[in-house]
Amino acid sequence: MSSVAFLGLGAIGRPMATCLARVPDRTLAVWNRTQDKAASFAAEHNVRHAFTPADAALGADIVITCLPVSTDVERLLEGPDGLLSGMRTGAALVDCTSGDPATSRRMAARLAERGIGFLDAPVSGGVMGAVEGILTVMVGGDAALLARVKPTLAAFGKKIVHCGPVGAGDALKAVNQVMLAVHIWSLAEGLLAATAAGVKADVALDVINASSGRSNASMNLFPERVIGRAFPRTFRLALLDKDVGIAAGVAREHRIPAPLMQLTADLMRVAHNALGEEADHVEAVKLLEQWAGQEIT
Ligand code: NDP
Repeated sequence: MSSVAFLGLGAIGRPMATCLARVPDRTLAVWNRTQDKAASFAAEHNVRHAFTPADAALGADIVITCLPVSTDVERLLEGPDGLLSGMRTGAALVDCTSGDPATSRRMAARLAERGIGFLDAPVSGGVMGAVEGILTVMVGGDAALLARVKPTLAAFGKKIVHCGPVGAGDALKAVNQVMLAVHIWSLAEGLLAATAAGVKADVALDVINASSGRSNASMNLFPERVIGRAFPRTFRLALLDKDVGIAAGVAREHRIPAPLMQLTADLMRVAHNALGEEADHVEAVKLLEQWAGQEIT
């Protein structure tokens, strides 16, 4: 029987942990910064509520974290209540945060001093993908360690890919997020222009979705959320801003010319600042609508 700890029961962490709770022959401990969420999760799923990160890690073979940014995870490592106080030699920390490669490398080095393995393992597929247990998991780190933890990650991941050394998963996730941001922003600009030229937005989307400009944004996000004006809050714009900033940083670090990434990072920062911490990522279109003085209808 393997023993797993999960830390960070947020929008995506909670359904990921739910998938783990359903696996028989595995013990699960959960920790969350706001304790009530961990307490209610533990009661609902009959798993152990841990009061500190160290307590969660006690006896665990695999500790999984899913927090907003890598430095949040790094801060959980140290101190008497920190993960390092609870984790045993030979255990593994799998960080499913959409993190940044430099912090992941730093954490991997710190954990290695204690004989603990580290994988950066950000996920994609959204909250629904997590609920259904069909996320894509992009992993950086030792391939043999991944082979060991893969059966556990399979509880919430359908496609689990070894991407390269520590930080590779983070880098690839951030690059994917640039595509997401570009598709949302450029589609909003395009639909505003088409609407002004007399094309109804649903007609424009219908045509784009049968043409070469289609994307997940045009096929799924906009029909459901923008045309329907629903804007459910599933993935915060603040997190997309963070992701695109990481990608722009990776390009800069490796001296890759990436003017579109840098511009997208600037636009996401402006939208995040304008719309606040709780806005959903798709709500970025509202800023463009404001600038254009019209809605996408
Ligand atoms: P949320 O903002 O919904 O949840 C964040 C979680 O982290 C909460 O459990 C929160 O605790 C906890 N937390 C926040 N700050 C700290 C801190 N300083 N120390 C300890 N715990 C902290 O985020 P998501 O669940 O949406 O995202 C988590 C990660 O997954 C992010 O990196 C995001 O980019 C990525 N991701 C999210 C997706 C989505 O669709 N939502 C899709 C793919 C990746 P508390 O309850 O106390 O606030």
